[in-house]
Amino acid sequence: MRSIASAAALMLAGAPVSAQTVDVAPFTAHEITPRIHLLSTPDDYYGPAIGNVVLIEQRDGFVLVDSGLNAGNGRAVVRYARSLSPKPIKAVMITHWHNDHPQGISSIRDAYPKVRIIATRQTEAGMLGPEAFDIGYAPGPKWDGAMNMLIAKNKEQLQKLLEAPDTAPDRKERIRKALVQFDAFAGDFSGSYIVPPTETFERQLLIDDPDMPVQILYLGRANTEGDAIAWLPKQKIVATGDIVVSPIPFGFGSYSGDWIETIGKIKALGFTTLIPGHGLPQSDTAYLDRLIAALTDLRTQIAPYAKAGMPVDEVKKKVDFSKSIDTFGTTQRSRANTQALFFDPMTGSVYRELRGEPIVQGEGSPEPDVPRDTPPKPSSKHHKS
Ligand SMILES: [Zn+2]
Repeated sequence: MRSIASAAALMLAGAPVSAQTVDVAPFTAHEITPRIHLLSTPDDYYGPAIGNVVLIEQRDGFVLVDSGLNAGNGRAVVRYARSLSPKPIKAVMITHWHNDHPQGISSIRDAYPKVRIIATRQTEAGMLGPEAFDIGYAPGPKWDGAMNMLIAKNKEQLQKLLEAPDTAPDRKERIRKALVQFDAFAGDFSGSYIVPPTETFERQLLIDDPDMPVQILYLGRANTEGDAIAWLPKQKIVATGDIVVSPIPFGFGSYSGDWIETIGKIKALGFTTLIPGHGLPQSDTAYLDRLIAALTDLRTQIAPYAKAGMPVDEVKKKVDFSKSIDTFGTTQRSRANTQALFFDPMTGSVYRELRGEPIVQGEGSPEPDVPRDTPPKPSSKHHKS
């Protein structure tokens, strides 16, 4: 059993408001409003990253933002939706192609075969393109065996750390939890497969409803080439995908210049609640400003070296992002993660962007050496709006 905490209530009152018996592991459920819920991995989750899933209950069914990383996550989403209402899941909007957002769809479509799967064309291309299949987390017939190998390798490393005499006790505690979570992940991944979008769009797509219309918007490049957001104009709630990830940002193959502009457009919506791609909801623009400051720092420091044509490996030795890193948390673990998941990979893409060179989607993300499956072919209907 998992506790359900209202994110808004948590932020305002600091206490959970209700309890539910449905098992949504590895997620924790949060009630944003009675008709808008968030499934998010808790602070003590140490397995592979899983994107947030937002459930928006309209009059004739649920609209989802993202679906999780694997078939087990998708089953948890279906269980949770059914615990809220007998209405079907009628649409899933995929914010971007990174595996931890679209790969729960297989189970959602098994439960609701008519579900609309909506993404930008760029996201569709990423989901079905070599990037997804090179990144190593794309499921398929060859996958399960390879994934088991990968998990075994991860667990072996964790086990060694656990047995090492100089590993700190708090780290050992995290490792013990991670070992259990990796096993659960292996079970959840089994049987996952890629489901291509049924529909793509250019700039906006409306899923109308008398009480809770959902505007799906493409505001420009940011974390990826095709990030979409969901905007609920009546509730003033926005779900951003990984354009915003907290408490520390992710940046693999991202577009720093456009990202700053896209965040500006999100600020201009005038939201009261922002649901990020990972992490808990935010009620102001403080984190967005921190993100803009970090992206600006990257561009400002790298620009003169990029212009002078200094090789990127030399640039990495010259720049110092420690002040910006500290704005995302000052523990040793937080600093290391911010460096590895954002500033290190972003340094390469900002350098290339400033030199007018193409950005490689997914660049810098972990690339396990596993067999590749052949991607399915796109078959979506395209909306020209
Ligand atoms: Zn993500």
